Amino acid sequence: MKDVYLSIGTNMGERYENLQQAVALLKEEENIEVVRISSVYETAAVGYTDQADFLNIAVHLKTDASSANMLEICQSVEQELGRVREFRWGPRIIDLDILVYNHENIETDNLIVPHPRMYERAFVLVPLVEITPTPFGDQLQQAHNLLKQMDCESEGVSLWKLFNEPLTVS
Ligand code: ATP
Ligand code: CA
Ligand code: CA
Repeated sequence: MKDVYLSIGTNMGERYENLQQAVALLKEEENIEVVRISSVYETAAVGYTDQADFLNIAVHLKTDASSANMLEICQSVEQELGRVREFRWGPRIIDLDILVYNHENIETDNLIVPHPRMYERAFVLVPLVEITPTPFGDQLQQAHNLLKQMDCESEGVSLWKLFNEPLTVS
C-alpha cells in the first residue's frame, strides 16, 4: 500500500459540505483507505484574490492505486461534485491535489509530485504538517521545515474547525 497525501480546497457553495462529500467519495473507492484527516483551515484566496475565502484540509490515505489512477480518482471526485473548470486559480467547488505519492518524485505530462507549489503555500502546509506529527521522508520533512519559517497569521491561514470535531460523513 502506498501512502498518499492530498490537499482538498473549496471556496464555493456549502464549503464544509463539499469537503465532507469529497472525503465520502474517497472512502467509497474500494482501493482507498482514509487514514487521517486534518482540521479544517480557512484562508483568504492567494493569486487571484477577488474571490471568496477557501476552506482547506489535508488527507492521508493508503492505496494500491497507481499515481496516474490516483489523479483520475481525484478528478472524478471533482467531476462528481460538479466542478466546472473556468480558469486556473479561480473559484471552485472542490479541488483535489496530490501532494505526496509514496514519497516518490513523479513528472509526467499531467502529474507532478510532490505538488510543485505545495512548499510555498501555508494553506497546504499547515494541515499537512498537522497530520504528519512524525514526518517520514524528505518531502514531508521539507514541508515541516518550510512551515516553521512561515508566519501563518500573515499568510492568512486560520483554524476553522478542530480535528477533535472530526469531519464526519453524514
Ligand atoms: P495548482 O496546481 O496551482 O494548485 P489548480 O489546482 O487550480 O492549481 P487545476 O486546474 O486543478 O489547477 O489542475 C491543472 C492540472 O494540474 C490538472 O489537469 C493535472 O493534470 C495537473 N497536475 C499536475 N500535478 C498535479 C498534482 N500533483 N495533483 C493534481 N493535479 C496535478
Ligand atoms: Ca490546487
Ligand atoms: Ca488541482
